Amino acid sequence: MKYPFGGVIQFGRLWCRIDVRSPEDLTLFDVAITGGGPAGAWAAFNLASGGARVALIDASHPREKPCGGGVSARALALLGSSVQQVANGVAIDSARFIHRDRQLTMPLVDSEAGMRLAVVPRMAFDGDLLARAEQAGATIVRERVTDVQRLATRWSVSTPTGEIEAAWLVGADGPASLVRRRVSSPFAREDLSIAAGYYVHGVTSRQIDIAFDDDPSGYLWSFPRHDHVAVGACAQANVTSTSRLLALTERWIAVNVDGGTRQRYSWPIPSLGVAALERQQPSGERWLLVGDAAGLVDPITREGIFYALLSGAYAATSILEHRDASRSYAESLRDGIYSELILAARLKARFFQPRFMGLLISALQRSGRIRAVMSDLVAGEQAYGTLRRRLVATLEVRLMIQLFGGQRT
Ligand SMILES: Cc1cc2nc3c(=O)[nH]c(=O)nc-3n(C[C@H](O)[C@H](O)[C@H](O)COP(=O)(O)OP(=O)(O)OC[C@H]3O[C@@H](n4cnc5c(N)ncnc54)[C@H](O)[C@@H]3O)c2cc1C
Repeated sequence: MKYPFGGVIQFGRLWCRIDVRSPEDLTLFDVAITGGGPAGAWAAFNLASGGARVALIDASHPREKPCGGGVSARALALLGSSVQQVANGVAIDSARFIHRDRQLTMPLVDSEAGMRLAVVPRMAFDGDLLARAEQAGATIVRERVTDVQRLATRWSVSTPTGEIEAAWLVGADGPASLVRRRVSSPFAREDLSIAAGYYVHGVTSRQIDIAFDDDPSGYLWSFPRHDHVAVGACAQANVTSTSRLLALTERWIAVNVDGGTRQRYSWPIPSLGVAALERQQPSGERWLLVGDAAGLVDPITREGIFYALLSGAYAATSILEHRDASRSYAESLRDGIYSELILAARLKARFFQPRFMGLLISALQRSGRIRAVMSDLVAGEQAYGTLRRRLVATLEVRLMIQLFGGQRT
């Protein structure tokens, strides 16, 4: 047994947590979390640190998750980690932005703010978060969730070998979330992006590349890790296909990456429009959805790791501290995340217009102020709510009009 005074054992098909301090309370976890990516692991870490009995259920580790692996300065701040402390992260010192035949390379290190972006392999980053959750007292159940069922006062979570019962259910199982499908409805195709590309092993760098595409409207990225680069392209699922994005990535690699061996990946990313974001219901009676399962990804940049972590933290605070945790969580998401994603979704169509891209590259080439805005956007430190005011101050009027048109935000 792992713990001298208690632990987790299986009675028949039921996973139980035994705690000799409360022998009558043999079976129930306070919270069952399905999925141990950043959202689930960070929720588990915060819940267990606050004294909750947590089961974190995920069979996939150790594994690489298809991802650029870009961890912004604000995500690092949430973790309380520097780039050196983030699992095997590369500190990025410059960014190259490309549109058609024009490009601009700019530093991504600020003399005052320091490093703005780390790139991590998700195998190490997610493994590290999982270990933090376990050290804080969460029980890691290395199983796949096959079903969830609402009982009178609790949830029953099925795995191939047993059942886990808990008062609360947190769905942290990514864009195809089984929990989401049981308590709500899956994402519509138009609310998903496809991301597809290659890990190119044997090459690395300290620079990220971002190339904006006109057709399909979206972008391609090359993010370096210590022993490989993750190259991929993304666009809305209803206007592209995996094969098209792979072909785009292959052409880019042929011109820009010298050598290396390729390993293909593709994966969906929630990229919700305004109406879908406004409709989201991320919680209900004793259940919460976090991270990708709740659609929490910036629809322009596709940054999701920060929102996964933040929603995990909100979920923990709501369950630990609020009588009506479901309502408190929904309010936290609405005020702290959905409001920002809705602003991004409103700007998205204009952002990816070729005309805006052209103006952006020109402005980046000539204006230090625009480069500062871009650096803050990459670091996650420029909110969409104050972007218009910030652009006014750069005096780049055409750029601002092209992006905002008649919009007030
Ligand atoms: C190609 C690509 C590039 C991206 N690049 C970036 C980037 O550079 N920066 C950034 O911030 N974001 C990026 N994102 C988005 C980011 O990867 C996600 O937003 C983030 O991983 C969401 O975290 P999560 O914990 O909600 O879900 P996930 O990381 O998807 O974790 C979900 C976990 O649930 C597990 N799971 C699923 N089903 C079950 C089940 N039935 N039972 C048990 N466990 C289950 C999975 O195995 C997984 O471990 C990218 C996404 C893609 C696809």
